[in-house]
Amino acid sequence: MHPFHYVQTQEPGAGVGQVSGSPQATFLAGGTGLLDLMKLGVQTPQLLVDVRKLPLAQVEELPEGGLRLGALARNSDVANHPLVRERYPTLSQALLAGASGQIRNMATVAGNVMQRTRCPYFRDTATPCNKRAPGTGCSALEGINRSNAVLGGSDACIATHPSDMCVPLAALDATVRVLGPRGERTVPFTEFHLLPGSTPERETVLEHGELILSVDLPALPAARRSLYMKARDRASYAFALASVAAVLELEAGRVKTARIALGGVGTKPWRATAAEQKLIGQQASPALYEAAATAALEGAQPRAHNGFKVELARRLIVRSLTTLGGKS
Ligand SMILES: Cc1cc2nc3c(=O)[nH]c(=O)nc-3n(C[C@H](O)[C@H](O)[C@H](O)COP(=O)(O)OP(=O)(O)OC[C@H]3O[C@@H](n4cnc5c(N)ncnc54)[C@H](O)[C@@H]3O)c2cc1C
Ligand code: SF4
Repeated sequence: MHPFHYVQTQEPGAGVGQVSGSPQATFLAGGTGLLDLMKLGVQTPQLLVDVRKLPLAQVEELPEGGLRLGALARNSDVANHPLVRERYPTLSQALLAGASGQIRNMATVAGNVMQRTRCPYFRDTATPCNKRAPGTGCSALEGINRSNAVLGGSDACIATHPSDMCVPLAALDATVRVLGPRGERTVPFTEFHLLPGSTPERETVLEHGELILSVDLPALPAARRSLYMKARDRASYAFALASVAAVLELEAGRVKTARIALGGVGTKPWRATAAEQKLIGQQASPALYEAAATAALEGAQPRAHNGFKVELARRLIVRSLTTLGGKS
């Protein structure tokens, strides 16, 4: 591991100053992602600014009825919070489907949002990877790409965003509250992560030194009827091959509200707006759910080893909607 300096910060503005003042500095939260990558030599920061003493670990009700998830709230605390379980079951289920109990007890909301891809070539410094070392090429395009993305890829990178938690956050229209050297700003969650394009090393809209303060969930009564489904190689401790966060509200047999987002198949947490548009206002039926699922995967670009993800994601969408709609 490369040598590095370590400081603890007690105040958000001071932490922002410490990281933005040094190009090789980065924030440290639970450390479950960052320290792995430092041990592998994939990330080599010279200064770690530990944010764990900041007062950002609360889950609080917002005046308009939503919830504020503090950046440092632990994944297990969010998953088991009574209001999250009651109002946004899809989020609780997604968190509980991720990693292991021990990791969820360390991992934070912001760390989860900022986690890096699990593309094996990104984590192997002996291989070319445009995301890790811009301009070196993408080993996955012609290599082993079973775990890679079928939606949102480019000629430079087809890495999936690996998070489970981020999938419901995209479906629920969360927003990310951020503090930077020039003050606070709010970013819609669906615009927070970037498509790889020709600059896959740039993964989010965050500028260097900007600190996530919270992820805010809007009031969405329909989300009480929501779920998360994840398909993976093992029953636990495995990243998604495909996953779905879905909200479905029916009124007199017609779809009143539909929210769908996909994980494991896109280069960012993937909001399936085309599928939602197929559903809204229509009479709920198995054929409608099939049509929505097909729309969600339209434009998918499978590679040599990941074509199965298209059908897997399609079936997960149908199963999610069928379960929520109470139809067989
Ligand atoms: C064995 C294993 C299995 C896993 N399985 C899953 C899984 O199935 N599903 C899943 O979703 N995830 C999984 N994960 C990933 C896990 O969810 C992440 O490692 C974790 O959420 C990262 O959170 P952290 O607080 O530890 O972040 P850290 O490791 O401390 O930081 C991660 C990144 O976030 C940045 N960061 C942290 N806080 C802030 C902030 N406030 N503002 C700006 N940037 C910040 C850091 O600088 C760093 O770049 C797994 C991890 C491991 C090790
Ligand atoms: S898919 Fe992206 S992360 Fe994976 S090797 Fe290619 S450039 Fe690197």
